[in-house]
Amino acid sequence: MKYYSTNNQAPIADLHKAVVKGLAEDRGLYMPEHIKQLPKEFFDTIETKSFQEIAYTVADAFFGEDVEAEALKKIVYDTLAFDCPVVKVEDNIYSLELFHGPTLAFKDVGARFMARLLQYFIRSNQNTQNNLVNVLVATSGDTGSAVANGFLGVDGIHVYVLYPKGKVSPIQECQFTTLGKNITAIEVDGVFDDCQALVKNAFMDAELNAHMKLTSANSINVARFLPQAFYYFNAYARMKSLTTHLSPLTSNIVMCVPSGNFGNICAALFGHEMGLPVKRFIAANNANDIFYKYLQTGKYEPKPTIPTLANAMDVGDPSNFARIYDLYGKSHERISALISGATYSDDQIRETMRQCHQDTGYILDPHGACGYRALKEGLKDGEVGVFCETAHPAKFKEKVDDILGIDVEIPERLAAFMKGQKQSVEMTKDFQDFKRYMMSR
Ligand SMILES: *Cc1c(COP(=O)(O)O)cnc(C)c1O
Repeated sequence: MKYYSTNNQAPIADLHKAVVKGLAEDRGLYMPEHIKQLPKEFFDTIETKSFQEIAYTVADAFFGEDVEAEALKKIVYDTLAFDCPVVKVEDNIYSLELFHGPTLAFKDVGARFMARLLQYFIRSNQNTQNNLVNVLVATSGDTGSAVANGFLGVDGIHVYVLYPKGKVSPIQECQFTTLGKNITAIEVDGVFDDCQALVKNAFMDAELNAHMKLTSANSINVARFLPQAFYYFNAYARMKSLTTHLSPLTSNIVMCVPSGNFGNICAALFGHEMGLPVKRFIAANNANDIFYKYLQTGKYEPKPTIPTLANAMDVGDPSNFARIYDLYGKSHERISALISGATYSDDQIRETMRQCHQDTGYILDPHGACGYRALKEGLKDGEVGVFCETAHPAKFKEKVDDILGIDVEIPERLAAFMKGQKQSVEMTKDFQDFKRYMMSR
């Protein structure tokens, strides 16, 4: 498979290059040249297949030409060492629980897949000199932990996690600052967009790139965002078993994705292009409503990030908008026909968490709350909604406890991180400072 840039000013890349470079030379995002349709028979019997079997079929459609079948299968099966179950919350509203991985958020899937794919490329490329690959990742919270844990201890790769000082939860912070080994946490005096700008500038800096091999693991990387399509196919399969009123190809399913940088929903849209029978999508936002505004007005106007309760969605200029725009031929009409939007204030998020807990007993985290509410308000007659519960509520324990007046249980794998010692490198948001530090490595 070949990959082109959304800016159309960069050379076509193969998968290896797209994964290692992350961002194309013209600052565009890589897009696969073709999207394979999966056959009708696949969907007819999908409910009889396991998550891993389904995911391998999807992975093969994207990566099968570039990765040996056995190796790809192993990458997929190792990545999905945990389940992404669909749970009924109330009539017609289901939660796709994406928090059963090691760091309790959906980003585990993409991060684990990318770490294994990058390792596959490094191994099959032994003759190149200076094999050490440096992964730079900007995080608003959950990316950092997922990537750091996905890559922890992987030979030949060093990970730098850039995060905004004081703007991620203590539990999130300990998940990438306590690991040591090949993981370095960099605490930036700024907001998420500053971290993202440092990473983007690093990739564009010729001197730095001559000094070290850099790659990105943000949701812009094709190896991170495409595997996120896996669990939408699995969700459809599980919904077929859970509900009787879904016919295979005329679906009434609405998928609702709490969105920040729009990588997750973009993967769902790729799934849709492959034939996944989903009727329509909802992108649920917090107060950072750039996409919502785009749907209403046809104008995409990035804005400074607004800090909110759902902090992993605090993005003022969602990178993957470029992919969605490209996928639908820059047509506002096509985009707004398939995707609708929603935007919620912190007060509405709190209210939703309380209402859902009171009425159903289900504990939402602040991100999932946006998704749940968008379905509550947006489902039409005859539709069945599935929202992504993108993180475990215990990841935001202080907030969730405070809002619901409960004591959320901390899963064992999360408690283990909290016992570690924090190590981080302090950094300003000035690129020259960051570059000086990296040049010294
Ligand atoms: C990253 C994240 C999101 C947003 O996902 P995008 O792919 O950036 O749109 C939503 N919820 C949680 C918990 C996250 O960590």
